[in-house]
Amino acid sequence: MNTTERLYYTDSHLVEFDARVVAVTTDSEGRAAVVLDRTAFYPTGGGQPADTGLLGGARVVDCVEAEGGEVLHVVEGGVPESGASVRGVVDWPRRLDHVQQHTGQHILSQAFVELYGAQTRSFRMMADASEVDVDLRDPSDEKIERAVDRANEVVWDERRVRVHNVTPEEAARMPLRKDSAREGELRIIEIEGFDFSPCGGTHARRTGEVGLVAARHWERAKGLVRVTFVAGARALSDYRRANRTARAAASLFSVARDEAADAAARLQEENKQLQRRLRASEELAARAEARELVEEVDEGAGGASAVAGGVTRVVARVFEGRDAESLRRLASAIAAHANTIALLGSREEGGARLVFARSVEAGADMNALMREASQALGGRGGGRPDMAQGGGPLAEKLSDAIEEAARKARQ
Ligand SMILES: [Zn+2]
Repeated sequence: MNTTERLYYTDSHLVEFDARVVAVTTDSEGRAAVVLDRTAFYPTGGGQPADTGLLGGARVVDCVEAEGGEVLHVVEGGVPESGASVRGVVDWPRRLDHVQQHTGQHILSQAFVELYGAQTRSFRMMADASEVDVDLRDPSDEKIERAVDRANEVVWDERRVRVHNVTPEEAARMPLRKDSAREGELRIIEIEGFDFSPCGGTHARRTGEVGLVAARHWERAKGLVRVTFVAGARALSDYRRANRTARAAASLFSVARDEAADAAARLQEENKQLQRRLRASEELAARAEARELVEEVDEGAGGASAVAGGVTRVVARVFEGRDAESLRRLASAIAAHANTIALLGSREEGGARLVFARSVEAGADMNALMREASQALGGRGGGRPDMAQGGGPLAEKLSDAIEEAARKARQ
């Protein structure tokens, strides 16, 4: 097969062309693919996705480079026959988008070189943004924004973008930003007075066509700095999205758009203080509740004097739907009383939970009691000798399990 003539090399704005079908074949994925003698369709490569469009009555859904130098047009619908003359139409909005991102990348990459001597090591154009991996030391928002500012100066200068087809000797005399791995004739893209770079992609005619370059995000990645950027129409749609998001957030706080972050930070701080106050209140409530439960036990035993005599006080209680945190807090507050054991349980959906605790003077082993009690509930539990937690699915056995634990604790 012969190498396909690349019409996009000489005119990246050519969208309609006539060609002859050289072969009809399949690509590596078995999809129907057409080879033409000439094409304006750009095949995936150099970090840039393929063009799409029409070929006669067929839809071009992908374009890939074959090993022999042909371009495979992956088509759906009426596949043209070999030898036929066809008209190709490239989807212009998609091509323009790629031209904007790709040319924007040349400019941004050279801005990093000009300002910081930082080379671009790789480039990827994705569905909603593009990435360059830049060899930049000590990255910061300021450094990256300065490069973006410089890139936009060049965009708004309306500089010519020229294509030079040169020999390697001629290329060697040009101030190339990066060396080419290719042999033979080279295609050098010049951004007038700013950047010379070997490239086979599709570019703007003048830098103004790029419209705007905006960095969205940067992060360190594999020893390099990955800068996510958008250019051209993408910069506008990205701005719209960011603006919508900021306005939606601001309206939740009833503040102006650019005050949303401050308002959120204030709310977060308030929330932290409320949490602290809530914890303090819960602590107080647990202590009061513990005191009441302890008194009830003492009254049942004939007064506090019984405890003073060295008998261990056991507070055994079953609650409904009480969460683990609240149960733990109450158990600790009960165990803060001298010579006291707390055996607490709570029924909930699908089972029961247990928390056992004791004060220093009380001798029983909460860990051992908990293991047995949890087993009785068909579950598992354990902990330290002074504090243990557990539970199981057999909620109907909760009262028995706690009574049994109380009996052992009194021994
Ligand atoms: Zn390029």
